[in-house]
Amino acid sequence: MNALAGTNRNFRNAARILGLDAKIEKSLLIPFREIKVECTIPKDDGTLVSYVGFRIQHDNSRGPMKGGIRYHPEVDIDEVNALAQLMTWKTAVADIPYGGAKGGIGCTPRELSRSELERLTRVFTQKIHDLIGVNTDVPAPDMGTNAQTMAWILDEYSKFHGHSPAVVTGKPLDLGGSLGREAATGRGVVYATEALLAEYGKSIKDLTFAIQGFGNVGSWVGRLIHERGGKVIAVSDITGAVRNLNGINVPDLFKHKEATGSLNNFTGGDAMPPNELLVHECDVLIPCALGGVLNRENAGNVRAKFIIEAANHPTDPEADEILSKKDVIILPDIYANSGGVTVSYFEWVQNIQGFMWDEEKVNNELRRYMIRAFGNIKNMCHSHNCNLRMGAFTLGVNRVARATLLRGWEA
Ligand code: NAD
Repeated sequence: MNALAGTNRNFRNAARILGLDAKIEKSLLIPFREIKVECTIPKDDGTLVSYVGFRIQHDNSRGPMKGGIRYHPEVDIDEVNALAQLMTWKTAVADIPYGGAKGGIGCTPRELSRSELERLTRVFTQKIHDLIGVNTDVPAPDMGTNAQTMAWILDEYSKFHGHSPAVVTGKPLDLGGSLGREAATGRGVVYATEALLAEYGKSIKDLTFAIQGFGNVGSWVGRLIHERGGKVIAVSDITGAVRNLNGINVPDLFKHKEATGSLNNFTGGDAMPPNELLVHECDVLIPCALGGVLNRENAGNVRAKFIIEAANHPTDPEADEILSKKDVIILPDIYANSGGVTVSYFEWVQNIQGFMWDEEKVNNELRRYMIRAFGNIKNMCHSHNCNLRMGAFTLGVNRVARATLLRGWEA
């Protein structure tokens, strides 16, 4: 099942549980605006090359739309639509005053030089600058983009609208980025994991963890779990996988990855086939890479007792059903990885205030937001007798539906 069909299915289930009026349900599902633009740039050798850029603005009833921009060869409008919709529910679950959006350009960033990437980003910004803005739609980095990409968008946008640091988040610190933003998604995942485990009388230091993906999110999750005394017994990424049943020294693995660009030849563990990671014996499995990795092919073989969805939509609906029959507890993506957008919100607030918070304040506020959202989700689970995914979806959808109804439809 593709990402959009899966996301729509979760939304419809939540709408049914909430008893949402069919007309509201339909209006919440249709994106506010879909933008598709042609981006042609001269390459370094003078030849022209054209790309297609998207920005899907899903909903703005609770505030400016918010979501990443990804540069990836397989960026397609269905997946961007699903991710934009997930952002709407995610910002509502976190209870930050935003709606949802997502964008991307169908390109292979590693095949473009730095100056080509800069030109492409500036052309894309020129095409969409009237439709994004501090109070309209605030992009952030995603797969294939980073703080430098945000700096170029900020610069290009500011040529049209004056200096506007709050138009993007995930910026470099020198241009108004927030302390703590780089670690925020991983840190939020760990706060969320602590909140979940406490419900079961467990704590990170007593458990074993397997982590798929060792990029921004996975490496922070691994390091913070290690710091708390948890045993990370298996890690994989696109280059390979490593296992050590006595616990991997994650800071050492991070240094090895930084130095060599790969997980291979790490002396603190044994190599293992990467496809074994998701079905490896462990207490907690944390997918931190791609969508759709848990599906009907492998869900029956998963041995973890808890799954923390740090990646976006890692579990497809068929796997969801299989895992729930096996009593595996799944902490859903729209809550588990909301730490990134929450600290993006703190960055936007700091830019608007013109005042920089210290890192301790950022982390303390992040913990407060994550714990509050977990309590709100649990309340929905109790009221509607549903699992954590439906608890999170009903919480988010209900907040967006209420805002939509309060605003009304009068032209
Ligand atoms: P990243 O590009 O920094 O890291 C991705 C990691 O996945 C890399 O280690 C890569 O090697 C690994 N990977 C790719 N294909 C793989 C495969 N087939 N098997 C195993 N590993 C594979 O990306 P990131 O920012 O860490 O994001 C990871 C996930 O978290 C994505 O789903 C993203 O949408 C989601 N997410 C990220 C943020 C954020 O703030 N970065 C926020 C919310 C959600």
